[in-house]
Amino acid sequence: MASSVVKETLGTLNKDSYVNLLSKLIGESRYVQNNPPELIPQEDRVVKHVLDALLPLSTKTGGGPLVINHITYFTGRGNLIVEYPGTEPGKILSFVGMHMDVVTANPNEWEFDPFSLSIDGEKLCGRGTTDCLGHVALVTELMRKLGETKLKLKSTVIAVFIASEENSAITGVGVDALVKDGLLNKLKGGPLYWIDTADKQPCIGTGGMIPWKLHVTGKLFHSGLPHKAINPLELAMEALKVIQTRFYKDFPPHPKEQVYGFETPSTMKPTQWSYPGGGINQIPGECTVSGDVRLTPFYNVTDVMKRLQEYVDDINENIEKLDTRGPVSKYVLPDENIRGRHVLSLRYLTLGRDDFRILPLRWQRHKIKFGRLKCIFYLSIYKFISNLFSVLNKSLAAVISRLQMTMLYRSYTFGILVMLSYISPLFVFCYDT
Ligand SMILES: [Zn+2]
Repeated sequence: MASSVVKETLGTLNKDSYVNLLSKLIGESRYVQNNPPELIPQEDRVVKHVLDALLPLSTKTGGGPLVINHITYFTGRGNLIVEYPGTEPGKILSFVGMHMDVVTANPNEWEFDPFSLSIDGEKLCGRGTTDCLGHVALVTELMRKLGETKLKLKSTVIAVFIASEENSAITGVGVDALVKDGLLNKLKGGPLYWIDTADKQPCIGTGGMIPWKLHVTGKLFHSGLPHKAINPLELAMEALKVIQTRFYKDFPPHPKEQVYGFETPSTMKPTQWSYPGGGINQIPGECTVSGDVRLTPFYNVTDVMKRLQEYVDDINENIEKLDTRGPVSKYVLPDENIRGRHVLSLRYLTLGRDDFRILPLRWQRHKIKFGRLKCIFYLSIYKFISNLFSVLNKSLAAVISRLQMTMLYRSYTFGILVMLSYISPLFVFCYDT
């Protein structure tokens, strides 16, 4: 179908409908904050509003063509797969990653109520407006429009709304479980757009994330007699310094990061620190440092994980050689046969990592402003795409920037739908933060 017909049939974003839906979603944001164990989101509260909008157009109610699948692994924490069938079997386009949880917000630190939608001129404000409830509303509106207009498309269009994106403390809830169950396998047949850009510019590549935890065991003792203790806080600080130093030596800034406009190279750092509690006059017996590795796609994740484990094993074996702090600080108590110890645990969500490739194009040429880059592109037919993009660079920029602008009520475009007929050999996948 010609792009003009697609555009004409789908029309522009219905501002009232979009804002109405978004205000319902933001109204749930308090209950979908993700920070376990205190805050475990109930994504089904968002699912309910999406279903209210789409069920009347679904095969379930007989009201339309949408095939809706509500998939739940944890009570109240569902994912939603919505399918608009195309006419040509096997042709597929998908929008994935619109997540229904949000990061926490402390209302005392906000100038307006984060848990209800407020409108300031052209600006929509509230927790989750850009990340990611705004996208949930946007793609819901798109699927509703497809269901209503029954537009004839060669490609099947699939929207995957997911649970549990903002925190990986609890796994098996969201996209990882969908992938594991093979429910996203068929998306590999066509382009996949990861719809979770929290910033104001399109993203074409990302640093993957390896969450890590370093559990450090020392020996508890009164702080007045520190020579009888192994201070796990000192031990963790010294060990972490060694680990970070070795990491940055082994995985320095990569020259390709410049080429692709990455704002930051790979990093490995602590972000959380905890210990069991105790008096200020007590050297604790243990502590835990957690953080993440953000890896640009030019390094191999398995390599990094292996190296990190080696660093920790080396430190454990040679703990006497670590720097100490002051004359009685130590990490071994030979008389008592006690050594301080580090245990590293690494978690990594794999989404078919072997399929990930970087799109080998000089995107800067297209004069699109890329800031924080998020998606990783996989090319099945690279040469084809290279040629294609030299032709399509302008329209791509327009499509992406217009998609972004919908957050400010601008008309949305379904140029992407048109593009799919050109770019079906391209499989785009990414995995987010
Ligand atoms: Zn997000």
